[in-house]
Amino acid sequence: MADAQKTIGVLTSGGDSPGMNAAIRAVVRSGIAADMRVVGIKRGYHGLINGDVTEMNLRSVSDIIHQGGTILYTARSPEFQTEAGMQKAIRVCEEYHISGLAVIGGDGSFRGASALSAHGVPCVGIPGTIDNDIAASEYTIGFDTAVNTAMDMVDRLRDTMESHDRCSVVEVMGRKAGWIALETAIAVGATAVLVPEIPCDLEKELIPRILRIQKTGKRHYIIVVAEGAGNTTEIANLIADKTSIETRATVLGHVQRGGSPTVRDRMIASEMGYHAVELLAAGQGDRVVAMKDNRVVDYDIYKALEMTKPFDKKMYQISNTINI
Ligand code: ADP
Repeated sequence: MADAQKTIGVLTSGGDSPGMNAAIRAVVRSGIAADMRVVGIKRGYHGLINGDVTEMNLRSVSDIIHQGGTILYTARSPEFQTEAGMQKAIRVCEEYHISGLAVIGGDGSFRGASALSAHGVPCVGIPGTIDNDIAASEYTIGFDTAVNTAMDMVDRLRDTMESHDRCSVVEVMGRKAGWIALETAIAVGATAVLVPEIPCDLEKELIPRILRIQKTGKRHYIIVVAEGAGNTTEIANLIADKTSIETRATVLGHVQRGGSPTVRDRMIASEMGYHAVELLAAGQGDRVVAMKDNRVVDYDIYKALEMTKPFDKKMYQISNTINI
């Protein structure tokens, strides 16, 4: 390594999401274009603590833009949240001369990045999670792919529900956020959507809604439930009990986290990765890259972690109005 050449690292952390590879690729190639050395750290903060560091070059990120998952693997590292773990991570950064780190991940990974930044390793967070639950950013890499997968799966369920005059209660992912549920519900025309942000009284609101819609002649129903909004099996049993409609519960699960990223996710990952490197090349750390008014921006990482993101009540209202 030439003494003057700056080294940056890139890692993926927490839950994986489609488009993380496109972001890694953008970081590696933008970093090399800016005359920096780029190293990849495998398995997130776990790999950072254990010195799992690999030299990256232009070809190490070939043929990955279309792949889901992450070539750097990902992990959750409780040890990183201890002072001893943090000290090990700092020592590895010193050993490899890492003077800036791009962290691709969700809210927890950003908290880790802010802790590392506070200990003197400048980090830039890139929002990567299917849940779209990072307050500072209107959009997170992987969300569009996940919603498209959920839509496709529910479309398939709909075919069989329609044939049998049934009700299908479908649980989608999202952790404590209802974004995947809301967009899926609108995209499939679901009879109802349950999200953690807007509590729904099942007996007083959901059941009467289904019965009301049944009276208009509808014979099959799709209810989309965010994973943080209740127990899908219990909701399905309640609907069956109270309406006598044959009801099935389906949990889509991790299929939503996989698959080839959509155009939107590849584009945004590429732009955000490039933007993160611009910051690191300029010696700026303690930042997060985010989407605001459909443009890529960046914020102070500590302020970003204090932000809140209001739920889209208008879209929820639209869903309830037209999906009847
Ligand atoms: P995500 O980034 O998808 O939200 P997690 O919440 O599991 O995933 O966080 C990923 C990793 O980030 C954790 O395993 C831990 O190493 C680190 N992390 C999470 N929260 C903190 C925190 N408050 N302080 C330091 N590190 C954290």
